[in-house]
Amino acid sequence: MDRRTFLLSLAASPLLMQCQSRNNQAFGGQLLGPDHVAGHALTKGEFPPYSQTRRNRVVIVGGGISGLSAAWYLQSQGMHDFVLLELEDNTGGNARSGHNRISAYPWGAHYLPIPNHENHMLKQFLAETGAIVSGHHTHKPTYHERYLCFAPQERLFIHGQWQEGLRPHHGLSKNELTEIEAFEQQMHTFRLARGKDGKPAFSIPLIESSQDPQWLALDRLSMTDYLYQQGWQGQALHWYVNYACRDDYGMPASQISAWAGIHYFAARRGEAANAELDQVLTWPQGNAWLAEQLASKSLAQIQSRQLVHAISQEKHGITVDAQDLNSRQTTRWQADHVIYAAPAHVLPFVLRQHSDLTQSAANVLHAPWLVANISLSDASILQGNLPAAWDNVIYDHPGLGYVVANHQTLQQPSESVITYYHALAQADSVRARRELYSESWQSLQQSITRDLQTAHPMLEEAITRMDIWRWGHAMTFPKPGFLTDHHRLRLNQQHDRLHIAHTDAAGISIFEEAFAQGVRAASSCLYQRTKMKKPR
Ligand SMILES: Cc1cc2nc3c(=O)[nH]c(=O)nc-3n(C[C@H](O)[C@H](O)[C@H](O)COP(=O)(O)OP(=O)(O)OC[C@H]3O[C@@H](n4cnc5c(N)ncnc54)[C@H](O)[C@@H]3O)c2cc1C
Repeated sequence: MDRRTFLLSLAASPLLMQCQSRNNQAFGGQLLGPDHVAGHALTKGEFPPYSQTRRNRVVIVGGGISGLSAAWYLQSQGMHDFVLLELEDNTGGNARSGHNRISAYPWGAHYLPIPNHENHMLKQFLAETGAIVSGHHTHKPTYHERYLCFAPQERLFIHGQWQEGLRPHHGLSKNELTEIEAFEQQMHTFRLARGKDGKPAFSIPLIESSQDPQWLALDRLSMTDYLYQQGWQGQALHWYVNYACRDDYGMPASQISAWAGIHYFAARRGEAANAELDQVLTWPQGNAWLAEQLASKSLAQIQSRQLVHAISQEKHGITVDAQDLNSRQTTRWQADHVIYAAPAHVLPFVLRQHSDLTQSAANVLHAPWLVANISLSDASILQGNLPAAWDNVIYDHPGLGYVVANHQTLQQPSESVITYYHALAQADSVRARRELYSESWQSLQQSITRDLQTAHPMLEEAITRMDIWRWGHAMTFPKPGFLTDHHRLRLNQQHDRLHIAHTDAAGISIFEEAFAQGVRAASSCLYQRTKMKKPR
């Protein structure tokens, strides 16, 4: 069977596998991922001609956080004449989720830090959902206790035992501790720093950051080079910073812009009346909860299982052709504006014009990720010298650790679902993706189990199921020079009636950037619509 046939069969019927654990208990699982059949259909480009037409003022292509945020913003401005076309069965994109008898669980994004005070639109949305209970205009809103991560939030397995928090300290030498302290001091200074333009040196969304050349110069070197430039060479600090880059950007610090690496530590200043600094918002299903809230007012406008395969700018409008994956029929939508909220690497297959734009889209690189949801018959095996936290990381290991999906429950659970994350971070992301797709469920589950057994020797005996999701194009990452990269800047421009809204255009893949992308694109549709309607 060649690779293509293999992928097609994989997507058509997810593989149900069985594994025999050491105590002879079998556990099964599925190998899952985005719709590859549709992906291959796009590359072949053989679709039936359209058999019907529809008209909406705005068509949103893609129902991840960016597309859903655009829909939310249009609704909030009283504009309901739009349709959102999503390829998969459900919206959410890489903030999607699953559930089983024990718990809901994330397949991708799983938390949102407390937003910065100046991120008014995001706080307004959170207030609407009830996540902010009161004071969303103030510096310290009150958040819903249920959504603030319960203690303990984080622990790190290092030198044979668990310590509180992810910043390493247990078993480190005095020099290593001093270095980490100096790094933290420097990040604190950056957090307070402002540029000559009066803006914060590092902000979220990143477009709100200062344009002062003093700070932008950091984009020219890698985060690893920045650490060496400061004279910081210790293994513990390098692990910590590397972990942060892999966790947020899916790539090691050597591949990440120093500006972006510092952004991770210095851009978050959000405070709450009832939360610790650094406490995050989380839900059993992860950020799928936020996706559900964004979608809730647009259920009538959302159409799933719609594969968009052509976008074309016409003299008096713009058209979108989408194949319904159930009926196999193609519908042509005629619109005033299209918000393209699908990933950049798909754009060259659907856009009929703008060769410069498709060239820029094809230039976006993506880091591949692996996520596994592991059901455990006995949650107590996660206990060590410290109780299980929400986020649990193993020092100097290939994976990024796991979050406990049912951490936000009021009673101590007897069973558990843990969500394991692994950014397959390598300099060569294309090769890493190829390798990911060449692995079987059996070999992936074995390496995941081995990775976690260092901290949990009894893990294998407790596993009742392991489902594994392969994200080939999980997220873009901010390489050195990404701030001035003309390809990325071009994606952020408006192209006649086409507006791009995706984290691929932001350059950093986090919820806040996706939200800002969607709101910006939707507001430029509204603005242009108003302008076009002005009497001549
Ligand atoms: C494993 C993982 C963990 C993460 N953890 C976090 C986290 O904890 N916190 C955080 O803030 N961020 C996290 N992120 C990043 C976050 O999930 C993203 O930044 C955000 O969800 C991206 O949203 P988006 O809408 O820009 O893109 P996407 O999620 O890529 O959405 C694009 C949508 O377009 C659809 N689509 C594609 N092609 C077509 C087509 N031809 N026709 C119609 N529809 C199409 C897709 O199905 C998809 O729904 C994580 C990401 C991953 C992969």
